[in-house]
Amino acid sequence: MQQQPDWLRYDRDHVWHPYATVHSDTPIWPIVEARGAEIRLADGRWLVDGMASWWSVIHGYRHPVLDAALKAQIDRFSHVMFGGLTHEPAVELARRLLTIAPGSLDHVFFADSGSVAVEVALKMAIQCWDGRGQPQRKRFLTIQSGYHGDTFGAMSVCDPENGMHRLFSGFLPEQLFAPAPPLASEADDGSALEAFETLLKQHRNEIAAVILEPIVQGAGGMRIYRPDYLKSVAALCRQHDVLLILDEIATGFGRTGTLFACEQAGVEPDILCLGKALTGGYMTLAATLVSDEVARDICRSEAGALMHGPTFMANPLACAVAGASIDLLLSRPWRDRVIAIERQLEQGLAPCRDLHTITDVRTIGAIGVIELKGNHLPPGIQETLVGAGVWVRPFRNLVYVMPPYVIEDAQLATLTEAICEVLSTRLQMQPSPNPPL
Ligand SMILES: *Cc1c(COP(=O)(O)O)cnc(C)c1O
Repeated sequence: MQQQPDWLRYDRDHVWHPYATVHSDTPIWPIVEARGAEIRLADGRWLVDGMASWWSVIHGYRHPVLDAALKAQIDRFSHVMFGGLTHEPAVELARRLLTIAPGSLDHVFFADSGSVAVEVALKMAIQCWDGRGQPQRKRFLTIQSGYHGDTFGAMSVCDPENGMHRLFSGFLPEQLFAPAPPLASEADDGSALEAFETLLKQHRNEIAAVILEPIVQGAGGMRIYRPDYLKSVAALCRQHDVLLILDEIATGFGRTGTLFACEQAGVEPDILCLGKALTGGYMTLAATLVSDEVARDICRSEAGALMHGPTFMANPLACAVAGASIDLLLSRPWRDRVIAIERQLEQGLAPCRDLHTITDVRTIGAIGVIELKGNHLPPGIQETLVGAGVWVRPFRNLVYVMPPYVIEDAQLATLTEAICEVLSTRLQMQPSPNPPL
């Protein structure tokens, strides 16, 4: 066992972490190495990674193929501006994306993060309607419990309760929110869809696009809903001539058991956002894909071009590793692996169903979610999980995992056993007197 590194104190005093306060006593764990589906703490302990670094590390850490792709590109060049210049890694990545993407998408805009890809999608929709002579269409319709990122445009379409709407109200654009569809396990009386349709009809002349996460709502609540709902939403968008933006930043690249989640509903977006697992979790990169029809109208808008262009657009290192990651994924029986993970998650997390403070256990593809009653996790649950040898980062009333696809059966068993054990003991839960059917 090694000592805690001395830079850890500096971290606590000076380095900001996601959604964190400064000068906090919340523990933070120093990582010194990662390999496959495990990450190593500075004190020598290896943790099984249940998070895939926020959905992204699908092939595991230090995959030799991805390492090699990145090193090879470093030896050519690490970056050049994308304005007026181009390079093979970007073009070949675009070719791959357009080949595997659902529907008829024809153009790729490379952005530097998921949030920026969403900003670009929103800009595309607004500029498209400007090009079509309807510049008043500048609002977006979405569903509650969504998450689309932390920049302002993206935040404006995040769930208004869980999101940061109150904090930034007055600055944030005000969008339209339909109720979230029922969970796939709940009864559906059709009222969510009805409310969606009503809003769409009422505001159709001001709505530029509908934006939502297909099948799985991620950071907004880890909710899994029925493909039929998405199918109906897409049909209503066509019927009322509103663009459909699908945010597959979390669900893309096989996570839900299909390459893209929208395939489960047979739905084709006008604009598609990709990110997270795009580079296999190696670097930040995202992409906004758009149909030729929409792209042409964007270019007919007053500006005459899409008004976005980040400094590090289409970074060659990120594009090279993303291309390699897609090839690697497609060269493997990834679907079988994801379905096997789903089965093991279902079985491994099932014992939690009997705990009376747990309201739901749900899985889809390589995603497992445990929802607790009430709105708070017991304090210190994160430390207990680390003590049990796993990296899981619960939030609100949710303990959830989406491990790297390369996770071994034994590692996945460690993960689910640790979660069940920690939840049943750490929460001091009693088996329910009336176990649910
Ligand atoms: C994570 C996420 C984003 C934002 O991506 P960042 O790279 O964190 O900016 C947007 N949409 C969805 C669905 C996400 O899961």
